[in-house]
Amino acid sequence: MLRQNESRAFVGKFLNDPRVPYRHKRREMMAIAGIIPIAKWLAQIKQRSDVWCRLCKRAQEQRVASNENLPKETYGHINSAFCDGMATTVTAAHHFIWRHLYASMQTAQTPASKLRFVTPDKESSMSTLWQEEEFKQICNRESLTEKAADIEKTISVKEHERERYDFDLIMFDENRFWNRRPDGIVINKNRRTLYILEFKRPSDRNKDFLRVKEDEANEQHTSIIEALKAAAPKWTFEQINFVAGRRGAVVEDDFYTKLDKLNVQAGNKDEILLAHVQCICKAHDTVMRSYYQQIHGSSGADATTSMENIGEQVYV
Ligand SMILES: [Zn+2]
Repeated sequence: MLRQNESRAFVGKFLNDPRVPYRHKRREMMAIAGIIPIAKWLAQIKQRSDVWCRLCKRAQEQRVASNENLPKETYGHINSAFCDGMATTVTAAHHFIWRHLYASMQTAQTPASKLRFVTPDKESSMSTLWQEEEFKQICNRESLTEKAADIEKTISVKEHERERYDFDLIMFDENRFWNRRPDGIVINKNRRTLYILEFKRPSDRNKDFLRVKEDEANEQHTSIIEALKAAAPKWTFEQINFVAGRRGAVVEDDFYTKLDKLNVQAGNKDEILLAHVQCICKAHDTVMRSYYQQIHGSSGADATTSMENIGEQVYV
């Protein structure tokens, strides 16, 4: 939060907004300071003897699985879909922020813009998109399948894909391609341009978080971009990644460049970034409250400014 060009003034507006309950601000500030009382931090201050994730442990016990290979309960872990207890909330936080940003960019198009924002929908896999005439006109399904197969077979099978791969060796590559789901697609038919959009909500602790996540997102969709380029050489395909740090850091010049590319009116850009940062902070608070609720059975009343002892001599 000390770094320039990372929306700190916008996070500051959230923290100074009298309409935002004090407890929300306090949770945001604790996250910025790195003192959210997760097990790892409690162990550091000698209030806990172990660092293993209590939510994953509980989920394993409910499945009557043995408590082996438990992940550490870190701030990063409870903010990720890898935590059994937090996955649903964290995924919902991703969708909440992204849908808001996507709708804001769509609403603020310049009058001359010919971009069409295809509605983000969890059912919008490559397969469902290519059932629509608009996409089939770019290239037909058969030629895309053929080009995709060449690329997919060069991509290694990830650990979470292993079961499906073993089950369906022959069709795995093709099915993996058609099941890919970008977070958004924007088309300009006149210019024969298609943008694949991806949204990430990573940790913003390290200053290279944007570049690291961009690389990861580009790798994730490389087969879509490369297969499309091979199947429809007259079109231009490009990926645009939006990266929002969990605690509200957004690299400002990068964000504004991307809004420009997507024909967002210049006068709306600050307003969109402000609303975006507010959404990130709100989503972060929902995630934190879900965590406290599950660990301590309480996230505290939002209407009061008094702190609540959640046990272990920690107040939120
Ligand atoms: Zn966990």
